[in-house]
Amino acid sequence: MTRHACIDPKHHVHDGAGFVAAVERACHERSLRLTPIRARVLGLVAAAGKPLKAYDLLEQVRVGEGAGAAAPPTVYRALDFLLANGFIHKLQSVNAFVACHHPNAAQHSVPFLICDNCHIAVELEDVDVVATLDAQARTLGFRPQAQTLEVHGLCSNCAAD
Ligand SMILES: [Zn+2]
Ligand SMILES: [Zn+2]
Repeated sequence: MTRHACIDPKHHVHDGAGFVAAVERACHERSLRLTPIRARVLGLVAAAGKPLKAYDLLEQVRVGEGAGAAAPPTVYRALDFLLANGFIHKLQSVNAFVACHHPNAAQHSVPFLICDNCHIAVELEDVDVVATLDAQARTLGFRPQAQTLEVHGLCSNCAAD
């Protein structure tokens, strides 16, 4: 089984350092501060290539170089910053984090396709799904604040095996 990170390779950030650099530029433009721990956490999530569990992330931060070691609350605060600004997404159903494929976009809701075999997660680039759900909720007088759309199954690679 080959590990393939995305259905559409041009939308996927394969290189953790390149991704951090893109987010650094976005932070500069939006007057946000990408502190060393935020950059470190972002780099680890981006380099993982598939959803990274909080536990594994904490482990990787801990075993890192001495100066870069950080306590869990610091790591969680870094994650909160990255989530709030749309640089990463949290996958609730697997309790893991993935880098957003669009570091220049603002925080957004997107449906995710999650492979139960190789555990990759792909952003489904469809704003209509999100807009439709939002509109239907509002017709019921519901005021949506967050959407979690996670579809489980087999990715194209795993389905082809
Ligand atoms: Zn995204
Ligand atoms: Zn798969």
